[in-house]
Amino acid sequence: MNTYLGIDIGGTAVKLGLVSENGEVLLRQEASVSFDNYQTPILETVRKAAARMLAASREAGYQPVGAGVSATGQIDSGQGIVAGTCGSLPGWPGAPIRAVLESDLGLPVTVANDANCMILGEAWVGAAKGYTDVLGVTIGTGLGGGVLTGGRLLEGARGLGGELGHMRTHACNGQRCTCGAAGCWERYASTSALVRQAVRLDPRLDNGRAIFGAARQGDAAMLRLLDSWIVEIAEGLAGLVHLFNPQLILIGGGVSSQEELLIRPLARQVKARVMPAFAQGLEVRPAALANDAGLVGAVCYFIRHHA
Ligand SMILES: [Zn+2]
Repeated sequence: MNTYLGIDIGGTAVKLGLVSENGEVLLRQEASVSFDNYQTPILETVRKAAARMLAASREAGYQPVGAGVSATGQIDSGQGIVAGTCGSLPGWPGAPIRAVLESDLGLPVTVANDANCMILGEAWVGAAKGYTDVLGVTIGTGLGGGVLTGGRLLEGARGLGGELGHMRTHACNGQRCTCGAAGCWERYASTSALVRQAVRLDPRLDNGRAIFGAARQGDAAMLRLLDSWIVEIAEGLAGLVHLFNPQLILIGGGVSSQEELLIRPLARQVKARVMPAFAQGLEVRPAALANDAGLVGAVCYFIRHHA
């Protein structure tokens, strides 16, 4: 049985796994990439962690045949480099991830965007298994996205495609976004957007968990806030449903476990906003792989490119 290294590089941590050809995670490790406020470049931390993971895999009797990397930022998957970022991640733009890791590990390496890897992982062994047309949206600090269409990952010319959070849903007088534009969907539909509004009403409600907790206890202001936030998410999704005609909308991120207060009302709101034929059979459900989605999806991407 072939095994692969999966490496999921985020803005605060790198998660590593040894993944089987069936998508099972056999070993796991994690390291902070922000431990010294990025004095140590992220790629340096990743190189050390990847070398440790390869050594641990070999000690356990495995011989990984390649490495799939899932990385935050705009990833040029053709060249395996970081083509850009939103906001500041010191030293990250331009990082030659693939070249450096191929030379360090002596293995072939692929690199792709983290939200794109998430949807591949979910389609391989998670909540989107068996589906060919899926919209994946990860709701968190920002709004990550990925599109599976006809079973293929939509990547665009350089691998940058599927950056759904920066679709403009508020073209007039929109809020400024970290990408430099204004009115982007993620300024209204991310968990951060929800939190920004909640803390104005109650400074203690400074995270998604607290906001959903208050809503569950009947806090009328939080219930109203959730309603209008869900409408913002649904408006963006409705546009995307008309573009891609998905069978499934997959919601990831910490808030995706809120079945009653998020997933169900969101499904209703999306279906109410699309033409009836697009709503037929359309499913909305939470992602299943949680923290493993990136590294498992990165290995899926690798296998698809080395089959
Ligand atoms: Zn933006």
